[in-house]
Amino acid sequence: MAIVFEALLCLLLVLAGLTPVCSIPQADLLAKRAARTCTYQGPPASKRWYSVEDSDENTDLKQEGKSFAWPVKCSGPPSPVQPVRYCFKDKRSKDNLKDILDSAISRWGPAMQEHVSALSIDLDAHDPEIYCDNDRVSDDALVISDETKEGAENDDWNWYECNTQSTTGYDYSSDARGRHTLEFCHFKPDDREGTRKWAIRGMMHELGHVIGLQHEHQRPDRGQYLWYQPKNLDDYEDAKERADIDEYCLWEDDVPIEQRMKEVTQIETFAQKYFPQALDFITATHRDGERWESYTHSTEFDYESIMLYPSNTNTIGNKFVIWRKSGGAVWQGGYEDPTFSRVSKGDIARVCQLYPSGTEEGREAQDPAAWGGAEVPLVVRMAGGFETVIYAPNMTMVGSGR
Ligand SMILES: [Zn+2]
Repeated sequence: MAIVFEALLCLLLVLAGLTPVCSIPQADLLAKRAARTCTYQGPPASKRWYSVEDSDENTDLKQEGKSFAWPVKCSGPPSPVQPVRYCFKDKRSKDNLKDILDSAISRWGPAMQEHVSALSIDLDAHDPEIYCDNDRVSDDALVISDETKEGAENDDWNWYECNTQSTTGYDYSSDARGRHTLEFCHFKPDDREGTRKWAIRGMMHELGHVIGLQHEHQRPDRGQYLWYQPKNLDDYEDAKERADIDEYCLWEDDVPIEQRMKEVTQIETFAQKYFPQALDFITATHRDGERWESYTHSTEFDYESIMLYPSNTNTIGNKFVIWRKSGGAVWQGGYEDPTFSRVSKGDIARVCQLYPSGTEEGREAQDPAAWGGAEVPLVVRMAGGFETVIYAPNMTMVGSGR
C-alpha cells in the first residue's frame, strides 16, 4: 500500500539523516497532533458509527480517561500519515497471529486507501521479529499478544478463561510503555484451520477498537434500533442463581428476583458481580467511567458495522441476544459467515473523519451521500487513476430463533 510505503520512506530517510519528504515532529506527540495540516473543515455529516470523539488543535488531548485517534506522524506533503503502530509481544504471538493480523489489516484496506484516509496499520520497528520489549520499539506502540494456552487439553480455556480485549483509540494522558494493547484469544493453536476465519473477523473487530471505534450495539440510543433479550444468554440461569443468593449483599432481602435480574442485565456494576457475560451488551449510559461518557455517535445506527456483536453471541441454541427492531439478525461486518465479513461504509466514514486525508476523495468518503445507502456504491479513487467500488454489505435477514 502506498501509504505504508510513505511511512516507511519517511522513517528510512530520517534514519539515513536525509531531509524527509514529510515533516516528522520529533519530541512531543501532542505537537505531532497539532502539526496536522489536513483537518477536515467541511459541513457536519450525518454519520453512522460509535467511537472516540474528534479532536482539533484546541482539544486537551491529555484528559485522563479519554482517548482520541492516533497521532499524525507525517503531516505531509505529499499526504498525511497517521499510523497505528504495533509490535508483537513475543515470538509465539508473532507465529500464531501474524497471518491473521495481515489478513485483518487487508480487510480494513477500503478505509486505508491512499487519498481516502491518512490511516495505516504498520509494524512499529518494521520487523516482525523485533518484539515489543526491544528498545527500538516505541513506548506507545500497540502490544499484540496471543493469550491462548498452547496445547490446552481443556477446550474451554480459549473461550471462557481467555479474554480477548483491546484498548480503544490512543491514550495521550500517559507516557507509559505498553499502554496500548490487543490481547487475543480467538485463534486456537490446536485448531488453526477451524478457527482461522473467525479469528480474522475477530481481529478486524479488535483493530476497530484500536483505531478508536466502540461497540455499535452499546450506543446509548441503541434501544431505538435493537431488541435486547439477556434471557437468551447461556449464562442467564446461573446469573439468576447468583443474584438470588446475593453474596455481595447488593439488595434488601425483599427485592424480588425480577427486579434484581433487571438491574443485573442493564447496569454495569451489578453485571460485574453476577452476570459478566451481559457487560458487553449494556448501553453506555449504564456503564461507569469518563471513557464511555466521552464516546460520540452518529445520528443513524450502522447495522453492518464490524463493531457489532452477532445476534447469536453466547446464546442458547440459535436464539438471539440482540436483533433488529425490524426483526432481522445483525452480524459482525454484515455477514453470518465470517468469510465475507467486511468493514461497513459507516466504519470507513468514521476512519476518514478521525484520520482525514485532506483530499477530495477523503471528503467524499466522509459524506453520507456517498456511503449512506446500499444502492449507492462508494467509489474510491486510488493512485494511478484506478477506481475501486465498494458496495455496502447486503442486509442479512434471519427470520426466527429468538
Ligand atoms: Zn469489542
